[in-house]
Amino acid sequence: MARLYDSRKRILITGGAGFLGSHLTDRLLEQGHEVLCADNLFTGTKRNIEHLHANPRFEFIRHDVTFPLYVEVDEIYNLACPASPVHYKHDPVQTTKTSVHGAINMLGLAKRLNCKIFQASTSEVYGDPFIHPQTEDYWGNVNPIGPRSCYDEGKRCAETLFFDYHRQHDLNIKVARIFNTYGPRMHHADGRVVSNFIVQALAGKSITIYGDGSQTRSFCYVDDLVEGFIRLMATDDDVTGPVNLGNPGEFTIKELAEKVIEMTGSKSRLIFEDLPTDDPKQRQPDISLARSTLDWEPTVRLEEGLQKTIAYFETVMPQLEVG
Ligand code: NAD
Ligand code: UDP
Ligand code: UDP
Repeated sequence: MARLYDSRKRILITGGAGFLGSHLTDRLLEQGHEVLCADNLFTGTKRNIEHLHANPRFEFIRHDVTFPLYVEVDEIYNLACPASPVHYKHDPVQTTKTSVHGAINMLGLAKRLNCKIFQASTSEVYGDPFIHPQTEDYWGNVNPIGPRSCYDEGKRCAETLFFDYHRQHDLNIKVARIFNTYGPRMHHADGRVVSNFIVQALAGKSITIYGDGSQTRSFCYVDDLVEGFIRLMATDDDVTGPVNLGNPGEFTIKELAEKVIEMTGSKSRLIFEDLPTDDPKQRQPDISLARSTLDWEPTVRLEEGLQKTIAYFETVMPQLEVG
């Protein structure tokens, strides 16, 4: 599997100790590359990367991307940012700083090194969309002053910075708009719907549906997403994105809850709580561009991905304090 030395790259992943970053790290190490993971461990954990410490091609530095970083690498994946509403609303000013100052610092680094840089953007740039499914040319419907704005507008500003560095400094950028993704190593307490429902079901606690559960989301399994990242990074210089990456299969939140109860054999019941402010009513990616440009589409069905995620939480939950 290891590649020839001359095709081995030294790759920086910011947010590499998080859910997506740690899976991307695994995949790039498997391909024979060297990975430098920079993470301040705000939502990421050492547990996600502890299996890599004996690997001489892996290096971890505790670093906050709102501060400059001087390292020498061949490629950068910029993933650092809390991703779940619970975490990004916890310190909204820091969330915006992470997206905006973090992007400026990583773009400055990429400019100095003249290297490719990937941005983990989000379907949240579409806000509560009027266009369904969402295509990349849709500009979105985003509240600039609400409780989700630190994340949504931070990510939108980061996209602006990426495209301005591309136009102004001819930087080779790759912007992915990621739709809801799930899998092993999601943080058990980050409040995202898949992890919440599985943890609640396994603990025999009530499943908390916000609103009436008719809002929809499309769930992509992490392995599929990481494949999309790597394909986007490998494209020619003229491919900048933004490219939607996600699974077009669309489910209501109530359907997801029922599926999790069935698959875990749980006796949990459904309870209905208030819908958070600005919670998007529906979300589904149009992935035509990813299909045509990257020859990519998800291959893991929801049941298959949930099975693997449930198995992960079954293993880790005894080690966690489930409150
Ligand atoms: P995560 O919270 O597990 O990972 C984010 C990582 O960034 C964590 O390890 C965290 O400690 C680190 N981080 C946060 N602030 C930092 C800072 N200032 N400096 C350095 N590191 C910092 O979330 P994730 O799901 O792995 O998300 C990764 C990226 O993908 C994020 O940028 C997120 O916005 C984006 N994204 C994820 C999803 C999804 O469904 N998982 C959807 C859309 C976009
Ligand atoms: N930067 C960094 N590492 C580098 C080069 C730059 O962290 O190797 C940061 C630095 O903090 C700078 C930012 O990136 O403020 C933007 O850099 P750029 O060269 O675009 O702008 P300038 O330094 O001219 O403000
Ligand atoms: N949600 C829910 N119960 C939970 C957690 C989330 O009903 O315990 C809902 C939430 O209101 C939203 C959807 O599930 O409509 C997806 O929420 P998540 O936080 O995972 O992601 P996002 O809102 O960013 O898509």
